Amino acid sequence: MATQFRNMDNIVLKNQKVSSHYEWVTYPNGEQAYLYTQKIPFIYNDKDIGILCISRDLTELYNIQIELRNQTYIDELTKINNRKSYNKRLAEILSEFKRYKIEFSMVMFDIDDFKSINDTYGHKVGDDVLIGLCKMVSSNIRKNDYFFRIGGEEFVILLSNTNLSQAILLSDKIRDEIEKKLNIIDGRVVTISMGVAKVLEDDDEKSIFKRVDSYLYKAKRGGKNRLVSDLN
Ligand code: GH3
Ligand code: MG
Ligand code: MG
Repeated sequence: MATQFRNMDNIVLKNQKVSSHYEWVTYPNGEQAYLYTQKIPFIYNDKDIGILCISRDLTELYNIQIELRNQTYIDELTKINNRKSYNKRLAEILSEFKRYKIEFSMVMFDIDDFKSINDTYGHKVGDDVLIGLCKMVSSNIRKNDYFFRIGGEEFVILLSNTNLSQAILLSDKIRDEIEKKLNIIDGRVVTISMGVAKVLEDDDEKSIFKRVDSYLYKAKRGGKNRLVSDLN
């Protein structure tokens, strides 16, 4: 890094102006630091006699900023997006739909009889089911899809650029995989009920949520471990 610093110093001396910038540096022990650096040229009788350099280490502040962002939008238990993040992303994806006609689908699901899982095996096991389920769902969706925990055991997936039949196919695959492969508790099958809807021309945040929520309710009433969509 000495060469890099020296080059900068030369520029400051040549321009005879104070310079300031943010930079990431790597120390010899491999540690990285985020610095705010100011360089002041010292000139005396037309001769440059050196540079005063002040670097402020902002690494901790930077890390706190990232942590704050995570606390705001990430659910602590499952490490997926939280409800606040859902509100933000839904507004964004709706405005993209209105502006560019990029359609999307919304999936909502809720774990079946989760209260009895907690009551039978304890809250800690319930937590493990939530964590395991989130890992399984996350590995089934694409990078530009968004997965949120919007309530205790209620989740939403926003599938960008996805029509209804694609959304149903994926959702049913997830439902099936959870039923067959989420073996968090020996001998206890965990299932989910799902609602799936495609965005409509005059949808807003409330109307699409209401529609998909009503499908989820229907799936519960119809016997759970099933999917209800715009089609049925
Ligand atoms: P249904 O099939 O109709 O959805 O029934 P249910 O038992 O899943 O639904 P209910 O709403 O009666 O119970 C939800 C339970 O989820 C109750 C609550 O204690 C539990 N729960 C909510 N958040 C958490 C959590 O973070 N960890 C654990 N372990 N349990 C949670
Ligand atoms: Mg439930
Ligand atoms: Mg619920």
